[in-house]
Amino acid sequence: MSYTPIKRPKFSLADRIYIVAIAKGLCRTFKHLVLALTRRSRHREDFNSKGIGLCMPFPEQRWDERLPEYYRGAPTLVRGEDSRERCVSCQLCEFICPARAITVTPGEVDPASPCAKQEKAPKEFTIDMFRCIYCGMCEEVCPEQAIFMSQEYLITLTDRDKGIRDKETLYKLGGVRKGLVNKWNDHK
Ligand code: SF4
Ligand code: SF4
Repeated sequence: MSYTPIKRPKFSLADRIYIVAIAKGLCRTFKHLVLALTRRSRHREDFNSKGIGLCMPFPEQRWDERLPEYYRGAPTLVRGEDSRERCVSCQLCEFICPARAITVTPGEVDPASPCAKQEKAPKEFTIDMFRCIYCGMCEEVCPEQAIFMSQEYLITLTDRDKGIRDKETLYKLGGVRKGLVNKWNDHK
């Protein structure tokens, strides 16, 4: 097996004694302390924060409106515009998932479908939300753009059985994604 050795970076004296890094961290903490005590924290007005510093009165007020486009919530499966399952059960996401949260059982496409002889579809597809760490690697690796990180962040699991999301649930959460499946497009 071939491999490429990676050279370790050389650390300066300042890096090695940590004092500069510790001082920088303390300065930043102190800066935020002063901003909080003088009620000048960033986005204070946006969040209508009434206490010292920046506090959001959750759950009355939520992040929903303010989530950035790139926010990674729970992973979901999506269908194409023609309602076809985009997932071809290649199992790359299952392989890459560091938390081993995904289980894919490959299956066949409905014989009545126009793409029955071209592609496969998952027979079963589950994501264990007790294991998922929202890393987004499944989305990154999927060659079919079939799995996407949603903006769902309020996931409170009160029942162990409900923590494992099956294919139907994942499609319901993901919905339909428009646009061609360009396997090597700019976003991949
Ligand atoms: S987001 Fe990460 S941990 Fe969660 S299912 Fe995808 S690869 Fe696995
Ligand atoms: S979601 Fe994507 S990576 Fe995962 S099995 Fe389906 S096609 Fe493959």
